[in-house]
Amino acid sequence: MANLRLIITLITVLICLFSSFTKSSNVIKIDLPKSLNLTLSTDPSIISAASHDFGNITTVTPGGVICPSSSADISRLLQYAANGKSTFQVAARGQGHSLNGQASVAGGVIVNMTCLTNVVVSKDKKYADVAAGTLWVDVFKKTAEEGVSPVSWTDYLHITVGGTLSNGGIGGQVFRNGPLISNVLELDVITGKGEVLTCSRQLNPELFYGVLGGLGQFGIITRARIVLDHAPKRAKWFRMLYSDFTTFTKDQERLISMANDIGVDYLEGQIFLSNGVVDTSFFPPSDQSKVADLVKEHGVIYVLEVAKYYDDPNLPIISKVIDTLTKSLSYLPGFISMHDVPYFDFLNRVQVEENKLRSLGLWEVPHPWLNLYVPKSRILDFHNGVIKDILLKQKTASGLALLYPTNRNKWDNRMSAMIPEIDEDVIYIIGLLQSATPQNLPEMESVNENIIRFCKDSGIKIKQYLMHYTRKEDWVEHFGSKWDDFSKRKDLFDPKKLLSPGQDIF
Ligand code: FAD
Repeated sequence: MANLRLIITLITVLICLFSSFTKSSNVIKIDLPKSLNLTLSTDPSIISAASHDFGNITTVTPGGVICPSSSADISRLLQYAANGKSTFQVAARGQGHSLNGQASVAGGVIVNMTCLTNVVVSKDKKYADVAAGTLWVDVFKKTAEEGVSPVSWTDYLHITVGGTLSNGGIGGQVFRNGPLISNVLELDVITGKGEVLTCSRQLNPELFYGVLGGLGQFGIITRARIVLDHAPKRAKWFRMLYSDFTTFTKDQERLISMANDIGVDYLEGQIFLSNGVVDTSFFPPSDQSKVADLVKEHGVIYVLEVAKYYDDPNLPIISKVIDTLTKSLSYLPGFISMHDVPYFDFLNRVQVEENKLRSLGLWEVPHPWLNLYVPKSRILDFHNGVIKDILLKQKTASGLALLYPTNRNKWDNRMSAMIPEIDEDVIYIIGLLQSATPQNLPEMESVNENIIRFCKDSGIKIKQYLMHYTRKEDWVEHFGSKWDDFSKRKDLFDPKKLLSPGQDIF
């Protein structure tokens, strides 16, 4: 076992050494004047940690890292950077769970947002004011003490509030309550000029809408006012298997159209591929080999995943929901499994996987993830071309593939976050969350390129999520009709283009 650990550690080091695309610092040493009263850490271990992210594909070396003790520290830093003679760029960094260096800045200053954490629940318990470096898991713990909780969640809770709101924040509750950005009432933001502004739909709306899904381009969020509601006590959590894609998506779409009491609270979907790792652990031990056989037999199996939250299991509504799921859905007979778990355990389920992968040394590996939004009208074409063809032909697939529909009216089009600009009510969220080794990283990256090319050639109007483009024309295409507003907002709030340069937009 000790030898295995050693080998895994060596592999991880090699991954960092050999498979990284290195963007090293070419900017002169940063000297912050004493009057700023900021400590710029240049300790090699801190610089090294800030040079890498969850993606483990790029290395971007900053000049230094500050750990702010208040938003005033960030404001002074940005005022100095915007007005001073020596120009350096600045990136807020949450947990650094980005995939391609988006939270870093070559030769510039990283603001370690995890130094600013706090959660204050309002007296009426309708919202919480949260410091932007707080992890969602801590938002839950604090709000649950008062019997309340946010209403929409990402699958993983160990990411920061500010980092998530800069992207969007999607998961299995979006069809009911919208992405995380749709559940924010107010923000405190420090612009690229160092101004401290409070914004909301009524106050400084241009900044509010710009920052939500704005990839850190217009300001650093220091506080977010998050909508709260009653925190349920437990979740009934189901997985059902399908061998036919159309039957699977029909059931998924039916469930997301029932956003009433007998509907489910959470819905996602997974794809098991015969050339990948099939995790059968949700099913009882006696059924696990049958599930694995099913995947071998069909090549692809679709997993419908839903949850219903509750406080009292004796309420008639709970048995009604279970009846709807067990009697009216068309999953493969017998292939349904249910777990009854505390609400927190359900929300924090990915942490269990993280602990497993960490213990095997498989967490800090390259992650060539591809996240897409696909219009409902083309989901079958996407399935036939990408899942049945490109992915099934891959030598080996590893990691997770997610596919589930959501309601597009839960997005606010005034925000920067992009979904397909197409007149359809339902869009699919696809997460091809592959883990690689240094050896197969190029193969996996070329699979991702093939998928994008296939969609382009077939006229499937996808949008990427957590994307990283390096060419301006790709960003212009990504933002589509919003590009002009996006670039005007940049000129307005960050005219010197100091913020989050790791996104490679400006
Ligand atoms: P970082 O990666 O540190 O930063 C992201 C970007 O935001 C950077 O450009 C950074 O400069 C900027 N930024 C950071 N903080 C601020 C701030 N306060 N103000 C302004 N800009 C800021 N996402 C989902 O939507 N749904 C999921 O279910 C989901 N699951 C995930 C599971 C795992 C295991 C992982 C690793 C990630 C997952 N994500 C998911 C992606 C996650 O939303 C992104 O990683 C996101 O970047 C947040 O991570 P972070 O807090 O570490 O931010």
